[in-house]
Amino acid sequence: MTLARMAVRTCNLIHRSFASIPHSNTLHSRQISMDAQSIAAQLNNSGFLRNQGLVGGKWTDAYDGKTIKVCNPATGEVITKVPCMGGRETNDAIASAYDAFSSWSKRTAAERSKCLRKWYDLMIAHRDELGQLITLEQGKPLKEAIGEVIYGASFIEFFAEEAKRVYGDIIPSTLADRRLFVLKQPVGVVGTITPWNFPLAMITRKVGPALACGCTVVIKPSELTPLTALAAAELSLQAGIPPGVVNVVMGNASDIGDALVTSPQVRKITFTGSTAVGKKLMAGAAGTVKKVSLELGGNAPCVIFDDADLDVALKGTLATKFRNSGQTCVCANRIIVQEGIYEKFASAFTNAVQNLNVGDGFGEGVAQGPLINEAAVQKVESFVQDAISKGAKVLLGGKRHDLGRTFYEPTVLTDVKSDMLISREEVFGPVAPLLQFRTEEEAIGIANDTNAGLAAYIFTTNVQRSWRVAEALEYGIVGVNEGLVSTEVAPFGGFKQSGLGREGSKYGMDEYLEIKYVCLGNMNFN
Ligand code: ADP
Repeated sequence: MTLARMAVRTCNLIHRSFASIPHSNTLHSRQISMDAQSIAAQLNNSGFLRNQGLVGGKWTDAYDGKTIKVCNPATGEVITKVPCMGGRETNDAIASAYDAFSSWSKRTAAERSKCLRKWYDLMIAHRDELGQLITLEQGKPLKEAIGEVIYGASFIEFFAEEAKRVYGDIIPSTLADRRLFVLKQPVGVVGTITPWNFPLAMITRKVGPALACGCTVVIKPSELTPLTALAAAELSLQAGIPPGVVNVVMGNASDIGDALVTSPQVRKITFTGSTAVGKKLMAGAAGTVKKVSLELGGNAPCVIFDDADLDVALKGTLATKFRNSGQTCVCANRIIVQEGIYEKFASAFTNAVQNLNVGDGFGEGVAQGPLINEAAVQKVESFVQDAISKGAKVLLGGKRHDLGRTFYEPTVLTDVKSDMLISREEVFGPVAPLLQFRTEEEAIGIANDTNAGLAAYIFTTNVQRSWRVAEALEYGIVGVNEGLVSTEVAPFGGFKQSGLGREGSKYGMDEYLEIKYVCLGNMNFN
C-alpha cells in the first residue's frame, strides 16, 4: 500500500484532520501533552505508522486481505489495522529469510557491523517517533517509552560491536600430524516471537545478535503491538540491511508459530512470553530438533532485610515493582520484608506509591499508564480478590482507577501469605504484595519456593549477607540494592521454568552460533 493510501486509511480510522499537525522533525518529547490521535496522524504522515507486514523486503498485506485492529490501550481507539497473516505468509517470509541467509552470512563481520551500527543510529535519531509508537500501542508513559527505545537500540549497538569478536579456537592436537580447529558459524534462519510489554527491546535483543552472527530473521511481534516492530523494520531497510534479512509477519499467533516451529528451514526459535506458550513452542521445535531460547514468566522476590538502607530499598522496590505499571517479567512480584523493618517500610512505601501519577502515557508527569487490555485488568482484580479473601489487607488502592477502562490503582497489600495466588503467579500489574519473614533462611526459602527463577532483588547493607543470599537464590538475575539491573552488557535469562539461554552480553551471541570442529589430518609435516 502506498503511503498516501495508508494516510487516507489511518485518517479515516482516527477521524482527524492533518491541518494543525506539526512536521515530524519538529516534534520533541517535551510535547507530551499532545493527544494520541494527533500523534498517530503525525506518525502516519512521516511514514512511521506502517500497517503491512514485511516479506522479502516488500510491504505485504495478508493474502486473504484480512486485517486486525491495533488499539490504544489508554483510550480503546483504533490506531490502525494490520494484516492478519497466517501460515502461507509465514512460509514465504521463511523462504525469503532462507534465500537472504546465503549472502548475509557470507558478508564480512565488519560489513554486518556497519549495517547494524547504522540501524542503531537511525533508532536513536528517531527515538521520539519510536517512543510515541510504543506509548500509542502499549500505553507506557512517553518518557519510559523513549527510555525503552534507548535501551532497545543499545542491543543493536552492542551486537554491532560483538559481530567482530566471533572468535574460534585452535586446540592442541593429540596427534603430531593433525591440526584441530573450532569455527563458529551462524545457525541460519531464526524465528523470533516477542510479547507486547517491550515492543522494541524484546525484538532488538534477539535480532541484534542474530544479525551480528550472520543469521536472518522472521519476526512475529505481538498482535497487540506490531507497529513499533514495523517501524523498526522500516529503519532496518533504511540502514542498508538487505531485503529478506529482516521479515515481519503478524496475525494468527498459533498458525504463524506452527509454521515457524515446523519448518526445517528455521534452525532456531527465540521466544519471550508466557511459560505456557514457551512450552508449546519447545515441544513443537522438537520435531525438527531446533535450537530454542526461551525467556518466560518470572515470580520475582524482592527481599528487604532489617539492615537495609531504607531509602535505597524504597527507591529500588518502587522502580522494580511499578515500572511499566508492573507489566514486566522482572517486576518484583513478592516483596518480602523482615519483621523489624516491616511496619516502617510498609508505611513509607505506601506513601511513595500514593504519589504515582496515573494517566494516559502522553500526559505530562504520568508515571503509571494503563494496563494492556481488559483481560489484564480482570486478572489483577481476581488476584487481589483472592488475596483479600485469604486475609490480605489493602493499604492502598485495590480497585480499578477512576479513569476506568484499563486503568488500575497502584495498590499495596499487606499480610500476604505464600499460598495466595498473588504469591504463586505473576500478577503483571501495579500491585505490591508485602510478605513478612523472620530469618535469612526463611527469606531464602520463601524466595525460592516457586517454579520460576528469572530475577530476584535483595536489599541489605551487610556485605557477607549479600553474597550469601545472592548465591543461595535460584535465579538467573540478582539485583543487590538495585531495582533496575537490565543492560545490554550483562546476561538476561532464567533458572527453572523461567527459560533457556541468555540474551544480551557476550553470552547472547552463543545462542545464534553453531560450533564446528574441523580436523586437518594426515598433514605429513616431514
Ligand atoms: P503474554 O501473556 O505476555 O501475551 P504470550 O505467550 O501469550 O504472552 O504471547 C507472547 C507472544 O507469543 C506473542 O507474540 C503472541 O502472539 C505469541 N503467541 C501466543 N500464542 C502462540 C502460539 N500458540 N504460537 C506461537 N506464538 C504464540
